[in-house]
Amino acid sequence: SLVAAGAMVASLAACSGGSGGDSGSGEGGGALIGVAMPTKSSERWIADGDAVKKALEDQGYKVDLQYAEDDIPTQVSQIENMITKGAEALIVASIDGTTLTNILADAADAEIPVIAYDRLLMDTENVDYYATFDNELVGNQQAWSLLNGLGLVELDGTPIEGAPAGPFNIELFAGSLDDNNAFFFFNGAMDVLQPFIDEGTLVVKSNQTSIEQAATLRWDGETAQSRMEDLLTANYSDGTTVNAVLSPYDGISRGIIGALQDAGYSLGDEWPIISGQDAEIDSVKAINSGEQYATIFKDTRELAKKAADMAVAALNGDTVETNDDSTYNNNVKDVPSYLLEPVIVVKDNIQSALIDTGYWTEAEVNG
Ligand code: BGC
Repeated sequence: SLVAAGAMVASLAACSGGSGGDSGSGEGGGALIGVAMPTKSSERWIADGDAVKKALEDQGYKVDLQYAEDDIPTQVSQIENMITKGAEALIVASIDGTTLTNILADAADAEIPVIAYDRLLMDTENVDYYATFDNELVGNQQAWSLLNGLGLVELDGTPIEGAPAGPFNIELFAGSLDDNNAFFFFNGAMDVLQPFIDEGTLVVKSNQTSIEQAATLRWDGETAQSRMEDLLTANYSDGTTVNAVLSPYDGISRGIIGALQDAGYSLGDEWPIISGQDAEIDSVKAINSGEQYATIFKDTRELAKKAADMAVAALNGDTVETNDDSTYNNNVKDVPSYLLEPVIVVKDNIQSALIDTGYWTEAEVNG
């Protein structure tokens, strides 16, 4: 019955000219673009979805924006529906980048250009472009922010003279292994941290240094919280303290903070330096209060604009602007990509990076 319903929608779309090819000249002329987002459980994806929708609607396109609540079959059927409804381009932020191969083959058969949004679509030839941030730099920045909090380097990684010798205890968290970005973040961070571990300035007391050990399925904060509890119980019950925690995402950072609080850590001298990503409002507040040291701000408004422009150019057969043609290989091909620049945010630059740019208002940050 799903197929029958799909066929009906398809013929409706054909009748109304929704899958016609010439509607994209100049203004969108009402052509449909499908936008698939992973989940509403993190506010960044809500902001991303809204911004992509607005950017496309401003250019005269219709938008089918769907969230899959981190459920892979839901995302597959949402994309299937977009194709059936006659979408002329797809913008996809995947849950698991390896699971959309079949549906993307259908998109290719229908000659629908596909833009990977923030997360690369893996193991398929049928992804045309990729709009993202410099994800390896994000990882570098997460590590630099930790080392900065410990007094070892400037925020750009420059060593600080007369820095303390440590040793500092550090624990490591990574993102979800079904998200290609997780590897860029973790490896980018470890490239910076490893020399400090090798020389003994940093000590990973748990010895859990591989990405598999550090991973957090679906970037889930509660999963991170319980791993942090286990790490504290197993390695820090002897009166030693953890001085820094590498966290790849604000939601994970909040889980880590919860575990520290439950274990009796309190703000002040023994509170560890914690990194993050996405500048989520609760975490910006946590940076203000000192619970979190830093986050990485990736302006979703810029990414949304870029992805929308890519989709429009691709469906019109125009040149698509990229600035990187070799970093992002998806196991089948190098996907032409546009990388935006991430920005480290610590307490000192919340105002200039987040408030002055209109990303958050003063009231949101201080409320
Ligand atoms: C994104 C990050 C985000 C994470 C969890 C990654 O793919 O690049 O910005 O923190 O997913 O949602």
